[in-house]
Amino acid sequence: MGGKVLGLNCPPVTESTSRVPVAEARRGYLRMAVERYDAIVVGAGPAGSAAALTMARAGVKVLVIERGDFAGAKNVMGGVLYSRQLADLFPAWPKDVPVERPVTRQEMWLLDESGSALRVGHQSARWGEGPPHMAYTVLRSRFDRWFAAQAEAAGALLVTETVVEDLLKEGDRVVGVRTGRPDGDVFADVVILADGVNSILAPKAGLRPEWPPEKVALAVKEIIVLPREKIEDRFNLEDGQGATIELVGDATRGTFGMGWIYTNRDSISLGIGSILADFVKLQLKPYDILEHMKAHPAVRKLVQGGEPKEYMAHLIPEGGFESLPRVYGDGYLMVGDTAGLVNVIHREGSNLAMKSGELAGQAVVEAKERGDFSSRALRRYHERLAESFILQDLKKYRRVPEFLNRHRELFTTYPALLNRVVTELFTVDGKSIKEKEAWLVGEVRREVGGWGSLARLGWEAYRAFVR
Ligand SMILES: Cc1cc2nc3c(=O)[nH]c(=O)nc-3n(C[C@H](O)[C@H](O)[C@H](O)COP(=O)(O)OP(=O)(O)OC[C@H]3O[C@@H](n4cnc5c(N)ncnc54)[C@H](O)[C@@H]3O)c2cc1C
Repeated sequence: MGGKVLGLNCPPVTESTSRVPVAEARRGYLRMAVERYDAIVVGAGPAGSAAALTMARAGVKVLVIERGDFAGAKNVMGGVLYSRQLADLFPAWPKDVPVERPVTRQEMWLLDESGSALRVGHQSARWGEGPPHMAYTVLRSRFDRWFAAQAEAAGALLVTETVVEDLLKEGDRVVGVRTGRPDGDVFADVVILADGVNSILAPKAGLRPEWPPEKVALAVKEIIVLPREKIEDRFNLEDGQGATIELVGDATRGTFGMGWIYTNRDSISLGIGSILADFVKLQLKPYDILEHMKAHPAVRKLVQGGEPKEYMAHLIPEGGFESLPRVYGDGYLMVGDTAGLVNVIHREGSNLAMKSGELAGQAVVEAKERGDFSSRALRRYHERLAESFILQDLKKYRRVPEFLNRHRELFTTYPALLNRVVTELFTVDGKSIKEKEAWLVGEVRREVGGWGSLARLGWEAYRAFVR
């Protein structure tokens, strides 16, 4: 497939040069002929590239349209990438995957205002064994670019610097997309919406509502450059290994959210993310909260002397199972963040994006074989999602967003209380253990409302997380 695409001169897609630069368009190269594809994918994040790769490998004629200068140019993630879903797509793990460090240690820190930090962590030899069981830290601008190139190498055509502005419909059926280019309509049997949490297309076409500020988190992230040896010293890491730290409590100044610190090769990624509604309600600015976390005594030393390289902000869909839209219809499918497929509790999003992209791609391949791209045929994608860990996990945690929202004390009172309790128990000050226990009972009564309230919270947590 070569020739004219969206009015641009396009070499055959088997060449790695098939990415079409916008400069050609600016030079006013060519007018667009009526273009038709089997499938159009909007967005070259992990979901879009996984879908494009799966379809291209099966001989489906795929066009991927990405608004960034290159795939991943503006994409943001914490970011831990789980290797399982990539290994499903590449059983022989490619040597050139641009990962930063394998994560061999994971920790959770509960911070309080006084400068205390209660730390829980785990280190596993299994995580160092290699894919598919392990996680890697990644920088999305590198990873997404590489991943999109794999879809191109399989035969998909990637057009960058092009915004899809609207879906084209005949009746209720999606038949193509309208881009921001002159004469920029392109037609296809099916359109896969992989345009992420900020999708303008899905709400505009009435395929899902705009998510309210209570159902999305706003996250800000900073990349701080540090010498490799310093990272390994500060995080107590073996050569080349990586660590992740999630931070709760004072890290987000009690907002419904979390902070994180992840080690890359020569830098650390750190950030905070909280429910958007909280920033508005509490009149807090995300970057102020990030600076607050960086100044905490438990964090300060880790970032000291580093050179800030990049700041970025992004939304995360956090509505969970109860907010999921219908992910298929006549001539379209929705994947990844566009559909809200994020498991916040396990910090999983990019893997759900890749898996949903793969499953959508498989459903399109089947639809093409049958020559049927109706809602009935594309429902197969939803069935595959339901059979996979994606919907099973999201369904299991369907009560969690509401539970966490109702119990804000988990982000305020409890981290502080736990720190006070541990400080008291580990302080040798001549008080007897009995005296300390009495103090503890008093604290629980004062802060939590007694053991009955604690038991009720435990029961609600059990219902939300376990049942
Ligand atoms: C701060 C933060 C930390 C996170 N940490 C983690 C983590 O550690 N691990 C993890 O697994 N997940 C994490 N996630 C979640 C993860 O990043 C997402 O779930 C994942 O990126 C979703 O992939 P996607 O392909 O669906 O969407 P995206 O990655 O958002 O990709 C969408 C693509 O569509 C393009 N696009 C959008 N609109 C248009 C348009 N109209 N026309 C053309 N192109 C368009 C965008 O430029 C982009 O390339 C994190 C998210 C954030 C914000």
